Amino acid sequence: MDDVRVCELCGTLFKYSIGPELCKECLGKTEKKLHEIRDDMERDPGLTLSQLSEAHDLPLPFLKNWVYEERIKFSEPKSSEVVCKACKKPIGCGKYCEDCKTDLLIGFAPAEEKREMPDMKGKIRRSRNRW
Ligand SMILES: [Zn+2]
Ligand SMILES: [Zn+2]
Repeated sequence: MDDVRVCELCGTLFKYSIGPELCKECLGKTEKKLHEIRDDMERDPGLTLSQLSEAHDLPLPFLKNWVYEERIKFSEPKSSEVVCKACKKPIGCGKYCEDCKTDLLIGFAPAEEKREMPDMKGKIRRSRNRW
């Protein structure tokens, strides 16, 4: 059976394969718009996501997705349009701010490392005055 879905942008039914839920026509259109948006941002780094959404006739959540996927990158965080999924701090691109990314990386460290490190360091670093 074909996997038929509704295009996120124009509402047309289409045969879904992989990637974003867009019909072929919209997929082509959005790829083109992505290039235009990147050009715009280069010309005018002050543009916000809502301004771009209006100028290019694309829904804001759709553009936000591109930011999460790092297909659009702001050099500086834009108010509250794109925020870190963990701490809600404004960010320029991706899903998490640098701080939370670091926290997540530590959280994902192999279990062995986490188990051994505190033990060994606890014995060596006895004085707190070092900090
Ligand atoms: Zn479509
Ligand atoms: Zn964060």
